[in-house]
Amino acid sequence: MGAVTIRDVRKNYGSLEVLHGVSIDIADGEFVILVGPSGCGKSTLLRMIAGLEDITGGEIEIGGQVVNDLAPKDRDIAMVFQSYALYPHMTVEENMGFSLKLARVPKDEIRARVASAAEVLGLQSYLERYPRHLSGGQRQRVAMGRAIVRSPQVFLFDEPLSNLDAKLRVQMRSEIKMNHRRLSTTTVYVTHDQIEAMTMADRIVVMRSGYVEQIGSPLDLYDTPNNLFVAGFIGSPA
Ligand code: ADP
Ligand code: MG
Repeated sequence: MGAVTIRDVRKNYGSLEVLHGVSIDIADGEFVILVGPSGCGKSTLLRMIAGLEDITGGEIEIGGQVVNDLAPKDRDIAMVFQSYALYPHMTVEENMGFSLKLARVPKDEIRARVASAAEVLGLQSYLERYPRHLSGGQRQRVAMGRAIVRSPQVFLFDEPLSNLDAKLRVQMRSEIKMNHRRLSTTTVYVTHDQIEAMTMADRIVVMRSGYVEQIGSPLDLYDTPNNLFVAGFIGSPA
């Protein structure tokens, strides 16, 4: 259903190639984390899965369908950004329901889907508030809520916790994992935080300068890193 296949994907900005043939097979329901130093191409790859960047070469499949030429709105995905990108003039409820409204989902159904996502996220008593009256963690949950209400096949996260303080980051990690256990939605999650990757991922994809260095479970990468770069990045002594 929500499997994502990335096959020899390349990306050029003008004459500059920033992804040099990336292949990753993501199983339905898997939680995969892309890690690597700043500028290695994580966000670019995620944005290509979302349809926010053209694909220069190769193929991306979602749920068995090649999506290279599909507009973002026609892909069964929902993306959560670092900046949350909440609408300041809309309440929590309106923020969470907005994409459904655009998709002409009936009002009653929007209300029901927002209520159920709000319950999952502990936002029931905040539905009438505006984003400026929320804490960082609550804003992050609203951004998650906007993704959850759409019940997509795939969640895409780009450094969703990097604006939070350390304590909240730890709490939100476990909330995101709990939601993943509950919903089993295939998740592709970008971070440059090794601890986040090691504690949250089913599998980690280590990227470097537009290439995949290694793909494996946290334990695989820790025990048998392919090279010093992976070892250094993951923090194993090898
Ligand atoms: P990461 O998310 O891993 O930090 P990015 O995917 O944002 O990396 O960027 C990968 C490379 O592509 C970087 O060298 C970056 O400067 C370049 N890049 C990203 N977006 C653009 C753009 N719109 N135009 C030109 N170069 C870009
Ligand atoms: Mg990035």
